Amino acid sequence: MTALAIAYGDVAAAHERIRGAAHRTPVLTSSTADALAGAQLFFKCENFQRMGAFKFRGAYNAISQFTPEQRAGGVITFSSGNHAQAIALSAKLLGVKAVIVMPQDAPAIKVEATRGYGGEVIFYDRYTEDREALGRRLAEERGLTLIPPYDHPHVMAGQGTAAKELFEDAGPLDMLFVCLGGGGLLSGCSVAAHELSPGCAIVGVEPEAGNDGQQSLQSGAIVHIDTPRTIADGAQTQHLGNHTFPVIQQLVREIVTVSDAELVETMKFFASRMKLVVEPTGCLAAAAVLNRKVDIAGKRVGVIVSGGNVDLLRFASLVSGGQS
Ligand SMILES: *Cc1c(COP(=O)(O)O)cnc(C)c1O
Repeated sequence: MTALAIAYGDVAAAHERIRGAAHRTPVLTSSTADALAGAQLFFKCENFQRMGAFKFRGAYNAISQFTPEQRAGGVITFSSGNHAQAIALSAKLLGVKAVIVMPQDAPAIKVEATRGYGGEVIFYDRYTEDREALGRRLAEERGLTLIPPYDHPHVMAGQGTAAKELFEDAGPLDMLFVCLGGGGLLSGCSVAAHELSPGCAIVGVEPEAGNDGQQSLQSGAIVHIDTPRTIADGAQTQHLGNHTFPVIQQLVREIVTVSDAELVETMKFFASRMKLVVEPTGCLAAAAVLNRKVDIAGKRVGVIVSGGNVDLLRFASLVSGGQS
């Protein structure tokens, strides 16, 4: 058995590093949700995290470990949005310059927020250009340190602090549902669960249109797909990472998928019943639970609500039946 990229000690150390900078987000319950799911649900609400998503945890944990040289040089990343804002805000708090490579069609709210935190934005075409190659080239040319959105041990450990807090607040759980893009959140949370709630079954949740993680788990190797077309813009990743996949392979029980229509229904549920504004990607785990994609009857189930960054007009359009 080869060593995994992170161990529980890395998650615990990350939690110390982000203390005072990140919010300890609330764990909410809802008897309406419990009735729908037929289980006892605990929602870890990262839509209330700083900059609106769990990504702040990993970004802050990564930049706080920069050497003085790296701090002086600055940080660069490529992202569909939330990681960009997380890097921009963390960099600002830690006094480091940030350059962000973003898709041209990234939601306006995410572009504006990134610029608002002082990040320099460089656009690319997500359907024709390779963002990773562009990011690496710019990093080399400008002496910046690249922090990718998921495939980095410091990012993974930081994301795992969300599950650490959930177990500390809710106690041991039978199951934990986590949304899946590139697997930073899922791998970190799995490592936390393995230590703090042994026996907790971990389920990853992907958009139906982009089930590369499910295919990877089934085939035993990282499967690459074309950029999936889904409203879950935070999970439009084409493949899991070299660091995240082995953790997922070892600790995750299964990966299930939900449709865009199910995500919209879940956005409506959160808004109308729990008074929560959750972005489409943030609804993945809850959609799997509310639609009972896995047998959860009578169980204590953790659900990571990963983020709340959605344009108000897009939110209104989605919940009122539009397609944008
Ligand atoms: C990035 C992101 C995800 C996916 O996280 P990974 O670590 O890439 O798997 C899910 N939800 C939201 C809101 C995100 O920003």
